[in-house]
Amino acid sequence: SCVLMWFRSDLRVHDNTALAAAARQGPVVAVFLRCLPQWQGYGHGPNKLDFWGRGVAALRDDLAGLNIPLLHRDIETYDQAPATLLAIARETGAKGLHFNREYPLDEQRRDQAVATTFDRAALFARGHHDATAFAPGELVTGKGDYFRVFTPFAKAWHRQLSDERLALRDTPRPQPPPDIAADPLPPPPQAEEPPVSARHWPAGAEAASDRLERFLRFRGRHYARQRDMPAVSGTSELSPYLALGMISHRQCLQAMLGENHGRLGEGDAGLVAWANELVWREFYQHVAAGFPRVCRHHAFQRHTEALAWRDDDAGFRAWCEGRTGYPIVDAAMRQLVQTGWMHNRLRMITAMFLSKHLLIDWRRGEAFFLYHLVDGEFCANNGGWQWAASTGTDAAPYFRIFNPTTQSNRFDPDGTFIAEFVPELAALSPKGRLAPSSEQRHQTRYPPPIVDHKAARLRALDAFKALTTD
Ligand code: FAD
Repeated sequence: SCVLMWFRSDLRVHDNTALAAAARQGPVVAVFLRCLPQWQGYGHGPNKLDFWGRGVAALRDDLAGLNIPLLHRDIETYDQAPATLLAIARETGAKGLHFNREYPLDEQRRDQAVATTFDRAALFARGHHDATAFAPGELVTGKGDYFRVFTPFAKAWHRQLSDERLALRDTPRPQPPPDIAADPLPPPPQAEEPPVSARHWPAGAEAASDRLERFLRFRGRHYARQRDMPAVSGTSELSPYLALGMISHRQCLQAMLGENHGRLGEGDAGLVAWANELVWREFYQHVAAGFPRVCRHHAFQRHTEALAWRDDDAGFRAWCEGRTGYPIVDAAMRQLVQTGWMHNRLRMITAMFLSKHLLIDWRRGEAFFLYHLVDGEFCANNGGWQWAASTGTDAAPYFRIFNPTTQSNRFDPDGTFIAEFVPELAALSPKGRLAPSSEQRHQTRYPPPIVDHKAARLRALDAFKALTTD
């Protein structure tokens, strides 16, 4: 009899722990449960959902090459997963189910419910750890707690890493042709707004490994210098692929090791810095698992729940629409809305602008990002937002508030990025693009600053000082 492989955010046939385990046990039937209402309820928007759908289609083709049929079912909520999977197991005569674990709270609960249902039916449902080098809980402080700060987490990560943890899992061999046919894929969801990101983000494992190869060949060694410059394509642009598992962290790190003489923590500065970002990705997955309150919209640092966020709808709209009068903030927000992606430096600048300069609750920004980002992923997004808002693990200290104009001086000194996304400023000199005078604003119809940096900074400092720490 066959075994089921339930794909979720691990849409690849290579280096997939659960799939490799399933293939060892017999012919595999793959399953994907599309749970659009719940995913939309979490706030994922058209870009991510479209990329997800295209990723499943690419997976279906890759699986077909191995004679593994993909069954596709639509469900409304995670609550329907146990019964749906059990019905598939009965229809196919499967003896059990394999899947790779996901660590946010609702996903863990869903998987637990599936395991219970299968157990009662005398079938097995086996969760595998796959998404990160260490499973949450495996890497802990001397006291046995989850890390709250990145640097000691990263040190422990490097210290305890073994070759085995990064060893690539076997790709299944083609199996004999199945007697079950793959399901036709349903049409993409009806989107309120069409996706904007499709052209730049071809989905699937092949597109992901092409990107990885190009990044390491052409940009990896310049990463330390170029990673903060939004006008340069200096980063890997692999985040959407990593978020849905079209490529694994092991594949990324193995390829990096190949370029860096087998070393992770030393050697080429660019490659080492890049590998460190993958450790950040892992850190935030551990945070979500270890401190599940963050999955319930709570601040990591409890005392910051009392912060007097401002109710400023007009300010929020100006931020969303790229009309704050701060060119670097506006260029970044327009990049997000127009392309479904934003450069990391700009995510930090815009998130800090919303939560500090406008003193608007970071959760509103987190939701806006999740809706637009093609790489929208709960753990990294929540971690990044709580970092910027100084409410999270290892957060930016509240008194360190980026000056957006200084940031653009450092990271977009000629205003090249600004000119691309705020074209009304393109004709100005670099100085004008970064900080247009009142006259230039008037001439170009670019709005005045929505807040004064110094005054807004003081207001944020006061709000944070008013908190009592616990
Ligand atoms: P590279 O610089 O090439 O990095 C390689 C990979 O490392 C990335 O693809 C990503 O998987 C991981 N990574 C890099 N930086 C971080 C980080 N700070 N935290 C966690 N993982 C990281 N990343 C997401 O994948 N999804 C999100 O929803 C998301 N939201 C964010 C929100 C805010 C406010 C901030 C400050 C950061 C957010 N990030 C998010 C992290 C980071 O901005 C993106 O991963 C990165 O910009 C993606 O570009 P890249 O693939 O070229 O990254």
